[in-house]
Amino acid sequence: MQLKLLDERLRGTKFVSLACRSILNSPQQTGMDFWSLNPYVGCEFGCSYCYARYAHRYVVERARDAGKLSDAEFRDFRGPGGWEAFERRIFVKQQVLSALDSDLRRFFRSAGAPGRPSAPIVIGTATDPYQPAERRFRITRAILERLACYEGLSVGIITKSPLVARDVDVLRRLAQRNAVEVYVSLITVDAALLRTVEARSPVPAARLRALARLSAAGVNSGLIIAPVLPGITDDVPHLEALFRAARDSGARFVCAGPLRLYAAVRDRFLPVIRQHFPALVERYTRAYAGHASAPPAYATALARRIERLRAKYGLPLHRMEDRYRPREPAQQELLP
Ligand code: SF4
Repeated sequence: MQLKLLDERLRGTKFVSLACRSILNSPQQTGMDFWSLNPYVGCEFGCSYCYARYAHRYVVERARDAGKLSDAEFRDFRGPGGWEAFERRIFVKQQVLSALDSDLRRFFRSAGAPGRPSAPIVIGTATDPYQPAERRFRITRAILERLACYEGLSVGIITKSPLVARDVDVLRRLAQRNAVEVYVSLITVDAALLRTVEARSPVPAARLRALARLSAAGVNSGLIIAPVLPGITDDVPHLEALFRAARDSGARFVCAGPLRLYAAVRDRFLPVIRQHFPALVERYTRAYAGHASAPPAYATALARRIERLRAKYGLPLHRMEDRYRPREPAQQELLP
C-alpha cells in the first residue's frame, strides 16, 4: 500500500494519509453558492442516511487507478457491501495548510475585492469535521487557526460532535474579525431511537451540552435538524423536544430539512428501515420513487410545523435550507 497508515483502532478502523493539493471547493466545482471544505474522507459515526458514502468510493477507486492500492487492498477499502469502508477506512487529508493558503488566494480573487469575499466557507458539508479522527489529527482545528489569521470571511461549521466545544478558543478568535456560525446537528433527543439510524454518533445530551458551551462562550451557534425522517422523527412531540432543547441550550437559530434519499444512500438506509420500521417500508418506497427529494406536499407541511414551533419557542428559523441545503456532495468535494 502506498497510502501511509497513520493509525489503527482495535475495532479495525484504519486511518490513512491522503496528500492534498487543494482543500477548498469552489461553488463552480460543486454547483452550490458557497465554498466547502472537508478535512476527512469517510466518517466513523456511520449514519445510515449519510450521502457521502459514494464519494469515499470514488476516492478509493482513484487511489486504485493511481496504483496506490493493490487489488486486495482495494477490496478492503471498498468493503463487502460497498458502504462499510466509509466508516472504517478514513482518509486524513495532509498538507492542508499550504493547500488552504493557495486556495484562499483563489477565493479572494473570485471575491472581486480584497477582504470582501462573496460567499461563505462551510466546513463539514460532506463528512463530519469533528469525527473521532479529529481528536487525534486536529486537522479541523489547524484549519480554523489558519482562517483566524484572515478577516472578512463568513465561516460555517456543521457537526454532530461535542468535540467542537474543544475549539471554543479558536472559534472565538475567528469570530473577532469574521462571521462564524456553528451548526450542531441532531435529529432527535431520543438516544435509543437515534442509535437505530446513527451507528456510532455522539448521544444527544453530549451534543446539547456542547451547544450550550458554545452559546455560553458567545459563539454564534444553533441546531440543525436534518434529516427529518418521515414517520420517525417528524411528529410534533419529537420536533418540539428538539426546539425545547435548542432553546435551553442557548441556540441562536434552528434550521431543519426533510430526508433526501439519494440513490447511493438507499442500499444502506432502506435495510435499516426494513429492520427497525417495517411498517414504513412501503411509505418510503412510494414517497421517494424515482427522486431524492421528499414529496413537495410533505415538505410544505413539515415547513409549516417547524415554523409554528419556531414561533412558539422564539427561535429564528435560519435559512440554511437555502444556503447549505443537505444534498448529495459533488465527487470533487472530497477529493484531495
Ligand atoms: S456524521 Fe455526517 S458525515 Fe458522519 S456518517 Fe453521519 S451524516 Fe455522514
